[in-house]
Amino acid sequence: MTSKPDTRKRVLFWFNHDLRLDDNPALAAAAELGNELLCVYCDDQNKLGPDGFGTPRLGTLRANFIDTSLSQLARDLAQCGQQLLRLSGDPVASIDDLIARFNVEVVVRSRHFGVYENRQWQLLIERHTAVDFVEIDSYTLFDIGQVMPPSDFPPTFSRFRRPVEALSIPLPVEQPTLPPAPQALESSRPVMRDAGAGRLFAGGEAAARAHLERYFSSAAPSRYKQTRNELDGWFNSGKFSPWLAAGCLSVRRLYQRIKQYEDANGANDSTYWLYFELLWREFFQWYARTHAERLFAFSGLNQQPPDSGFNSGRFQTWCSGQTPWPLVNACMQQLNQTGYLSNRGRQIVASSLVYDLGLDWRAGAGYFENRLIDYDVASNWGNWQYIAGVGADTRGGRHFNIAKQTRQYDPDGSYIDRWTRDHDREAESLASPAA
Ligand code: FAD
Repeated sequence: MTSKPDTRKRVLFWFNHDLRLDDNPALAAAAELGNELLCVYCDDQNKLGPDGFGTPRLGTLRANFIDTSLSQLARDLAQCGQQLLRLSGDPVASIDDLIARFNVEVVVRSRHFGVYENRQWQLLIERHTAVDFVEIDSYTLFDIGQVMPPSDFPPTFSRFRRPVEALSIPLPVEQPTLPPAPQALESSRPVMRDAGAGRLFAGGEAAARAHLERYFSSAAPSRYKQTRNELDGWFNSGKFSPWLAAGCLSVRRLYQRIKQYEDANGANDSTYWLYFELLWREFFQWYARTHAERLFAFSGLNQQPPDSGFNSGRFQTWCSGQTPWPLVNACMQQLNQTGYLSNRGRQIVASSLVYDLGLDWRAGAGYFENRLIDYDVASNWGNWQYIAGVGADTRGGRHFNIAKQTRQYDPDGSYIDRWTRDHDREAESLASPAA
């Protein structure tokens, strides 16, 4: 009997926004292709610099969340006999070097929707013509072949949603058996830092899984539609976004959990609405792919630039929560202290920056990039464009009346009080999960 020759290769898997082993189809593909597997994460030093308005791109809270997620990923990989090589510098140069040092034949990663990240990928493809580069969808509900191509991408969310709702969402894949790391890797020491995580959100796959179970063991999903617009309260919305953004949680696993909850407890408007919000996330991913650099352009998808500018003093009052509007200030305090803000809060502060302070929306988007622990390039810049009226909103932007929002969402002033008073607000906002 002749045994089949092993044609599998030395593969480099580039972890990025997929810091998990569960339902990671890109990692599963790498494991399938390789007889040796190099697992790599690169801290991109280019992302540490300031944006055009002087805000550093990566803030401490998100850096801590990613550190904790990576530490856990490294431990999980070690349990599978693997090793995470964490490098720091320019990712293209780092991967160039690894390809040469380890004779890498295939590089695999999860598809990315950022222009910058795609330039890095293209650069690597151009430089290494003898290497195969494979990108797999593990960040989205749908695979690239299921979604309309950029040339047919619809201008609005509703025209995206209707056709994609008819598609079937690929099932999550199990954790793969990983091939070993190359022998020579043993001399390379991974650079690991174990960061103190924020108290509200702890990074890593285990924390994501624990939150998933806790949320769906409660009755919160059945009343999500009624509570999702609240400014505070742990279970008033799903709070999955930080884990989704870092990839500690797969969006397909989350979708599967919604369906299981519906089977056990019955479907209603609220359980549908959770899925509906995941479609917004999905929309912005494919929107970013379609519009590429336009995602960051002042005039967005429009021909005409908006009627706003930049003023450093006014911008600082907004960032530090010292505007004339207590509700805006409370939201900015919550964002600055926790790295999280409800969707309603984000809309209110974004609208205030654009319409009440007359500032360039990109300064606000850059500040969110720094502060949010759930920062996601497509969701952040796409939502900012939407509010500023230069993106997917055909109705010309969203100007929220702050007095009306205050009456509606903080009628007794308790939210403003909590975030502008001097005491342990984080603990207080955690205290009453609506389980
Ligand atoms: P839930 O209400 O529980 O929603 C479930 C999931 O649906 C979320 O986790 C998220 O993945 C997705 N979702 C919900 N609303 C939106 C939306 N409007 N756009 C895209 N996805 C959505 N979300 C990010 O994940 N990263 C960002 O960088 C980001 N920046 C934003 C900037 C602005 C100006 C605005 C208005 C919204 C932004 N959002 C962003 C969207 C939304 O505010 C957050 O996803 C949501 O508040 C996260 O809380 P949650 O997980 O409890 O959401």
